Amino acid sequence: MLTIDGSQGEGGGQIIRTSLALALVTGTPFRIYNVRARRDRPVLQRQHLTAVNAAAAIGRARVEGARVGASEFTFVPGEVAAGEYAFDIGTAGSTTLVLQTVLPPLMLAAAPSLLTLEGGTHNSHAPPFEFIERTFLPLLARTGARITAQLERYGFYPRGGGRIAVMIEPAANFLRLDIRARGPVRTQRARALVVNLPPAIAERELSIIRRELGWSDEQLRVETSDNAYSAGNVVTIEIESDHVNEILTAIGERGVRAEIIAERVAKEARRYLSIDAPIGEHLADQLLLPLALARGGSYTTGPLSLHTTTNIEIIKKFLPLEIQTSQVKNEVWKIEIPAGWKESAEGKG
Ligand code: ATP
Repeated sequence: MLTIDGSQGEGGGQIIRTSLALALVTGTPFRIYNVRARRDRPVLQRQHLTAVNAAAAIGRARVEGARVGASEFTFVPGEVAAGEYAFDIGTAGSTTLVLQTVLPPLMLAAAPSLLTLEGGTHNSHAPPFEFIERTFLPLLARTGARITAQLERYGFYPRGGGRIAVMIEPAANFLRLDIRARGPVRTQRARALVVNLPPAIAERELSIIRRELGWSDEQLRVETSDNAYSAGNVVTIEIESDHVNEILTAIGERGVRAEIIAERVAKEARRYLSIDAPIGEHLADQLLLPLALARGGSYTTGPLSLHTTTNIEIIKKFLPLEIQTSQVKNEVWKIEIPAGWKESAEGKG
């Protein structure tokens, strides 16, 4: 049984999700202690418990000690079974982070799966739905994985109640993915979404994007919706270039002026464009696991986040892979993930 120190590196929820996914894929049991020890509100919270329970359900696992408030637990995986699953976080906890946990094992399963996930769809510190749909999944498609996601209802903090449906078809063959350059930028646009809120908020946000990035009206779009149990606001900047479609997001917060929300995402977009690398900070930590499980690959990105370096350490605990990172030039790093962990795992008997 592997022992994982949940306080290492980033010391947050990512360590749990990566460990669960890899335990299922490799059949390796683990015990984790110091769960989320570096977070302001440490230990297992509702959203992480849903991820543990979801992983246990798809992988017929035995779990000991996992409950809200636990600082350690044990996970003994069984056989992963594709199929139809519904997981409800019950709070605004992120549906996409639960997806991050169960997607890798289901992507490698023998039959298709259909997931329905309820909770938050647009949370701070988690991939927003559009990022999954239009940034992350299209890149996975290039490795051979066929996964589609649909947003059925928005879910925002604190009420939640959003719903996404994800269809996962197993790949016949996986391919390597190498993305070393962004290529020319084709389109750049911003969307300000208001759900059960006045459009004036979105207009104020877009006027900041216009000012900060110098974009024209054709690049800016207000979207309104009432498809949620509560109110929410999201500003999304989409930068589509030849080799990747990056999405940067800021989520509206109660008590924070709309202008500040828009300035945050404009700053992120400027930063992304100023670095000569295709893969943004969040994508960099999220691509590691699928590429390690597919045929490997490589990409360049900006300075490595603690999420990325921690994720690499956790992957290395479960898989016999040497993931290499090296600095290419000022602010640009290369990550190389070797191909074929399955072959090497089998080779080791
Ligand atoms: P904790 O609950 O311990 O704070 P967590 O479960 O929220 O942690 P983290 O360990 O902070 O999870 O990981 C958050 C994940 O969400 C990371 O994979 C990160 O890349 C991703 N993420 C955060 N913000 C964005 C964003 N704006 N766009 C895309 N992905 C994001």
